[in-house]
Amino acid sequence: MPSAAAPAMIDELARALAELDGQGLKRRRRSVDSPPGARVRVDGRDYLSFCSNDYLGLANHPALIAAAQSAAAEAGVGAGSAHLVAGHHRRHDKLEQALAAFVGLPAALLFSTGYMANIGVVTALVGRGDAVFGDKLNHASLVDACLLSRAELTRYPHGDLAFLEAKLQACGAKNKLVATDAVFSMDGDLAPLPALLALCERYDAWLLVDDAHGFGVLGAQGQGSLNQFNLRSDRIVYMATLGKAAGVFGAFVAGHSTLIDWLVNKARTYVYTTATPPMLAAALSASLQQIAADDWRRARLKELVAQLKAGLAGLPWSLLDSATPIQPLLVGANQAALRLAEALRERGILIPAIRPPTVPQGTARLRISLSAAHAPADVEQLLGTLRELAG
Ligand SMILES: *Cc1c(COP(=O)(O)O)cnc(C)c1O
Repeated sequence: MPSAAAPAMIDELARALAELDGQGLKRRRRSVDSPPGARVRVDGRDYLSFCSNDYLGLANHPALIAAAQSAAAEAGVGAGSAHLVAGHHRRHDKLEQALAAFVGLPAALLFSTGYMANIGVVTALVGRGDAVFGDKLNHASLVDACLLSRAELTRYPHGDLAFLEAKLQACGAKNKLVATDAVFSMDGDLAPLPALLALCERYDAWLLVDDAHGFGVLGAQGQGSLNQFNLRSDRIVYMATLGKAAGVFGAFVAGHSTLIDWLVNKARTYVYTTATPPMLAAALSASLQQIAADDWRRARLKELVAQLKAGLAGLPWSLLDSATPIQPLLVGANQAALRLAEALRERGILIPAIRPPTVPQGTARLRISLSAAHAPADVEQLLGTLRELAG
């Protein structure tokens, strides 16, 4: 409670928050009382949820839970120190080798989060006097990484290869890096990775691929977007997160072994932070086995995407063009998106309204995310409720 004696800076924050609220932009948190899944208990009420990035439904899988429990009993719950001090556990090592083998790259390095991985990679590879190029719809962590690097940043219009090529051609910097989401997190569409790689080859740039939403989902067995496009190059820096389809927490970077060695030495978000708990590495090793083995999870996702697309035809809102489990329903105005999300919530369905600055002005949307944890009846329930609200 701001009191009469609150310093002016507190009053200023309160005024700015009230302004956000007036624009329909103030964020609020809800407290969850259940494991992740198609059905969740939030603030004491049960909902059908389309909010999670747990695309394969692994976050509450018994094999992952058992692996975490037995590793905790054996290795404790905390790593105790940074990787370069004494926090690098044998389980981290094993997981890194398994991840590298799975994505078909020579070496891999674990980071605590995807946000930290992006910051660490970009700032370790480019700096003052260098140049970075990023798609305008890139995830905030890539944008922040590029800004923090102090390299000159060019944000190119979404997917505009001609624009990017002109900028690369005109660029005289020694070190160049192109950074892109592989699957754009708020739109669900894919980056033109083969064409981006061709440009990076031609103009001698690194290509940083952020596969947060592709790993586990795309590729023959969930190996991700490089596998999907059959891409291979020593200039690719591959980053994937482990808190989405993998169902746990963390991230990894994979690529040439010299690159990984450089990151061990120079990525500040790797060097100057506590190692993630070994119990999470154990859960992730179990997750990796499920990802590779459970083709039915990816098949289920494809069926649910097709069902949603077919069922939405004729309703007043349109889906953006996405073949991934991220299916954004475009609404437009902030308040209209909030109202639709609220009407669904009243009817027992949770879908987040995504508003600026996360997405461009005028493109507020409901970000439906599907999971192998959903049954066709869950999607039917969503479609029925949307029809009711439209009619
Ligand atoms: C979620 C996400 C991240 C951040 O990953 P965390 O592990 O949650 O920090 C990075 N990039 C993209 C595209 C993401 O969607």
